Amino acid sequence: MVLWLPAQWLAVGICLFAGVHVLQSGTVRHEPVYAVFGSLSLFVALYIALTAMLQMPAQPLATVGLVERTRLAVACVIYPAAFVFIALFTRMRHWRKWSYVVAAWFLALLAVNLDRPWGLLRDSMRIDPILWLPWGEPVAQFSGTVSYWAWPFFASALVVLAWSLWRCSVLWRMHERARAGALWTYVAVQLLVVAYGQVATVLAWRGPDFTAMPFLVLVILVSRVLTREWRQRGEDLAASLDALAVESSVREQAQDSLRKMAYRDSVTGLPNRNRLLEQIAAMQSQPDQVRKAALLVVGLDGFHSVNDALGHEAGDQLLRAFADRLVDLCRHATCVARLEGGDFGVLIGVSQEANARDPDALGHQLTESMTRPLRFDAHALTLGVSIGIVHISGPGSEAPLLLQQAALALRHARNRSRGSRSIFEPRMQSEASRQITLIRALHEALNSGQLRLLYQPQIDGRGRLVGAEALMRWHHPEFGEIAPDEFIPLAERSGLIHVLGRYALVQSCVALRSWPEGAPRVRLSVNVSAWQLRRADFTDMVAEVIQTYSVAPGMLMLELTESALIDDATIMGSKVRLLRSLGIGVSIDDFGTGYASLASLKSLPVEEVKIDRSFVQDMSVSEPDRFIGAIIELARALDVYVVAEGVETRAQRDALARIGCDAFQGHGIARPMELAQLLAMAVASAG
Ligand code: C2E
Ligand code: CA
Ligand code: CA
Repeated sequence: MVLWLPAQWLAVGICLFAGVHVLQSGTVRHEPVYAVFGSLSLFVALYIALTAMLQMPAQPLATVGLVERTRLAVACVIYPAAFVFIALFTRMRHWRKWSYVVAAWFLALLAVNLDRPWGLLRDSMRIDPILWLPWGEPVAQFSGTVSYWAWPFFASALVVLAWSLWRCSVLWRMHERARAGALWTYVAVQLLVVAYGQVATVLAWRGPDFTAMPFLVLVILVSRVLTREWRQRGEDLAASLDALAVESSVREQAQDSLRKMAYRDSVTGLPNRNRLLEQIAAMQSQPDQVRKAALLVVGLDGFHSVNDALGHEAGDQLLRAFADRLVDLCRHATCVARLEGGDFGVLIGVSQEANARDPDALGHQLTESMTRPLRFDAHALTLGVSIGIVHISGPGSEAPLLLQQAALALRHARNRSRGSRSIFEPRMQSEASRQITLIRALHEALNSGQLRLLYQPQIDGRGRLVGAEALMRWHHPEFGEIAPDEFIPLAERSGLIHVLGRYALVQSCVALRSWPEGAPRVRLSVNVSAWQLRRADFTDMVAEVIQTYSVAPGMLMLELTESALIDDATIMGSKVRLLRSLGIGVSIDDFGTGYASLASLKSLPVEEVKIDRSFVQDMSVSEPDRFIGAIIELARALDVYVVAEGVETRAQRDALARIGCDAFQGHGIARPMELAQLLAMAVASAG
């Protein structure tokens, strides 16, 4: 029975297979440990094959010598290769320089080996009788005189082994138990084989050559470890790939919601300002889209009042209700966005249907739709919208600038009247910057005496001076004369109106106090802005001023506008009553232009109404004017004094007198004048 030799060839096969396999995967993995181990396995295969050949019976001595020499040459390559492999396998850090030393040493031994006829280990060789293994297999054997070169060779092999043991312990401490175990087993088997060789020599035993076996053990164990590690790493990689995929999808979701947050308004769910700006920019990058595109800023009038009165929750619901309506009406728009407060942006482009493309038509449609009340929560409110429009005629303007222009147009529309539309014109931009300059200048004007009051006389039907309206004037050293129609709204917007209003009241009181003895007294009318009246401490301020300047309250008339009075009828009503109880007269200015019905006069204890100059200018002088006639009739019934403003002609004055107007004011009588002139006029009219 043959067993020993086939086993040897099987070992060769295993090593060959392992070598080729590991070498192949080593090149794929780009890891030197695989490549080195693959090469090592191939050398080991060669070594075992040569060992097997040596044990084949009936070979001439010359062949045996040649094979032995070749085998030792392979061994001289195996040791440095094993050194590099173990260094890498045990993760040694500075292995390279040591590998040169080891390689150089074994290269020297290799050279000696090639130089000697029987190889490194022996000086002479002879073939021994065949060894019969217990199962009857013949194995060739040889022996010879041991050369002194054998000792450095064995010694270096032992050094490599000892070093391997030390590397094992390092690995063990690094908790690489599998690697350390495999290497340790190899070293143990190798030592066993060495010990067996020694004992066999000493006891002159005859047995098969086991020297190749430890290498086989090394190849098998290490391939197992490496393969298992590789599989583990594959699994780890797959797991971390999975984890990465999960993580990246989580991150994507987070980014998605961030993106949404960055581009969505949280109250209405509509795109926000950033998104709108992007859409404008995107549209501008397509020249064919830009022709005829337009941007509308739609402002919900009175939104802030509703928010203040009903609370923010209701305010949000109102915004959502309005957003729904807006989206519904602007179905063809490129983008409908909420900007801030009650302001929304609508971008329309060329790709829309022809009728949806005209921004003014769309604006009209929007205004019309607001006659239907907005329903939200338990409320149903009818609010108006004001609209600012800017035409986007080319890719020239930056998106933020366009939005600013549309907002400016909206402000213009609102200043004109609520519920109106305005198309942006370049002059609005210069006006806006002038306004900012003027607001700044107004602060200074108050402190540097640039403001003063002129007085416009009022006369009765018989031409007697009965009163005068205090009108503010602003002379700016650089900009010249600035009309109150321009600076009063600015003062209102900037909050300066309270100081300005108090100033007008104080100056009028000072004028009343300085009234000369003997000159007929006339009532001074002071204009009060709606913003002043709304302030809770307004009546206190008035009371404090008249007390400080100790003027007779009956000599003062406060002109309130109709729109100020309807703001919050109950509160304003009580303020009017309070002023009246102080003895101060209250007049309704610009009467007929506001929304108050004539009947609302009944509920307010006003003393006077001033018919707005627009009615006077439009009135017919040849026949009685029905509208003015109706006002006067009602006023009579309520015992209210009627003053007509803006009387420019004698004909107007006569016509007004005929239908029962009490007093007249206007350029036709006198222009606003300095106090001294008014006093002179008073004296003259008495005489
Ligand atoms: P208002 O109260 O309606 O004042 C009457 C305006 O009509 C004055 O313009 C006056 O100069 C002008 N006016 C008088 N007679 C005629 C006329 O025959 N024809 C024409 N076309 N206009 C005439 P003014 O002084 O420019 O004031 C404009 C507005 O500024 C005032 O309108 C008033 O609302 C506001 N204002 C003026 N001074 C004050 C003030 O001290 N406080 C407040 N809150 N507002 C003021
Ligand atoms: Ca007035
Ligand atoms: Ca007026």
